[in-house]
Amino acid sequence: MGNEATLYIGAHADDVVINASITIYRHSINSYILTVTDGAPPATYPRELCGISLANHQAYVQQRLAEDKSAMRVLGIDVCKRYSNSQIPDGKTYQNIGRIIEIIGTLVEKEKIRGIMTHGFPGQSHSAHPDHEVVSVCSHIVGQEYGIEVLEYPRFKSNSARKQTDTIFLEDDQIETLRCYFTPEEATLRDELMKIYTTQRFIVEKYRTAYEMFGRVVRNPKTIADTTHLYGGQNYRPTSQEIRKAIADFLHVPY
Ligand SMILES: [Zn+2]
Repeated sequence: MGNEATLYIGAHADDVVINASITIYRHSINSYILTVTDGAPPATYPRELCGISLANHQAYVQQRLAEDKSAMRVLGIDVCKRYSNSQIPDGKTYQNIGRIIEIIGTLVEKEKIRGIMTHGFPGQSHSAHPDHEVVSVCSHIVGQEYGIEVLEYPRFKSNSARKQTDTIFLEDDQIETLRCYFTPEEATLRDELMKIYTTQRFIVEKYRTAYEMFGRVVRNPKTIADTTHLYGGQNYRPTSQEIRKAIADFLHVPY
């Protein structure tokens, strides 16, 4: 794990650090990072977030990018060469499936990537952000096209206090799990890394863990997952139906 050129993909600026920071720290020489969205969902500006004043949408986009790059530098990543952010609008990955596949494919070819780490799928016991699911599907499509192994981050299960209580994969998946247990120094480093994301202060407590876990899984991207377990209530957009339709339309398969 991480001994060959590996691409770590996250839908949002913080997903890669939450899921794979110490693994990257141990293998920074072989690690490439792709954050897909701009991480800034529509909001009213000016606004203040965790003590940071944001004048407009673009200011938030730049703040999130700066946070992600700072954390990656701490992990030993040369952000000019090894880090990219595709600036797909947050929440709009489902409208950019072809482009995301092209971006991942281009990176895979250019950097001779041999492994992809990406989001897992949402499930009944653990909902997920729609962008995570779309990014996961796109990663698997590229992995299959290039014959590259794809490993998934687990879902985080939280309790009512929004603290992570467990990390799990889909129950019906046949998954081999790989774990990376932290040394005390690495656990401290991870906490420090999470604090770099000043506009996402909640992640320090919510995602504290003693290890990182990855699931080795082979998926047929043309099998549209049951995507009824997305974040948000009834009025949340995109709906799971819109996600399913977008993926199915792109793949020319029924859903
Ligand atoms: Zn995310």
